[in-house]
Amino acid sequence: MNRRILFYLLIFDAFFISGILLFLGFNWYWALLGLLPILLIAIASSQIQWNFFLTAIHSGKTSEPKIALTFDDGPHPIYTPQVLDILKKNNIKVSFFLIGQNVQQFPHLVKRILDEGHTIGNHSFTHSKTIDFKNKKSWLGEIEKTDSEIEKLCGMKPRFFRPPYGVTTPHLASAIEKSKHLVIGWNVRSFDTSSRNPSKTVQKICEEIRPGSIVLLHDRHESILPILEQLLPKLRDKNFTFVTVNELIHEEPFHQA
Ligand SMILES: [Zn+2]
Repeated sequence: MNRRILFYLLIFDAFFISGILLFLGFNWYWALLGLLPILLIAIASSQIQWNFFLTAIHSGKTSEPKIALTFDDGPHPIYTPQVLDILKKNNIKVSFFLIGQNVQQFPHLVKRILDEGHTIGNHSFTHSKTIDFKNKKSWLGEIEKTDSEIEKLCGMKPRFFRPPYGVTTPHLASAIEKSKHLVIGWNVRSFDTSSRNPSKTVQKICEEIRPGSIVLLHDRHESILPILEQLLPKLRDKNFTFVTVNELIHEEPFHQA
């Protein structure tokens, strides 16, 4: 069944069942149970791996020990240059999912990312806290504005898109259908932004990582620096090699003109 129709059916179903229960004289807490489909929608929206509203790629199909590190929310004026320095020192290529507003503010960092051989993708224009409530038109605006900021810098529009917070909705799915982006998720979530103990974060990543893994990290906070310094040698010891997302999944990172 079309996932958008399923979404509206679940919402209708929730209110219909609750209404019927109240009408039949059941207590309000029974009526609340009728709203469970809405809870299901909320959970499904927040779990990008479920592919509930749209299909995303979460890993590469390979048995070779290749992995792709990905960094969201940059470029950041303080941390992105330091992350790039660590990557350069280790001769590692990764992928950055950029926020359009930051691209506009720090174009020199985007150029550096590209010059040093990394891949970039679109991560919305504003990354606002209420972005998941946007309709299709507003989503398209978010996506297209970031595409054009990137195009101004490198002459090409990115093909990869990563939803902010990993949340997916039917409106985002419609926008993506129109913009023809490939949605990139992850199968290792580091929770690096809330990390108070870099060693524990590194240990968690090392336990979850598999050949073909896509790892979610962020280059907008200080802890990313000790995390990377510890993570890279550990993964090397496990014989993992680092590739960009496009290399891992064998897809072009830019729309062909
Ligand atoms: Zn983000």
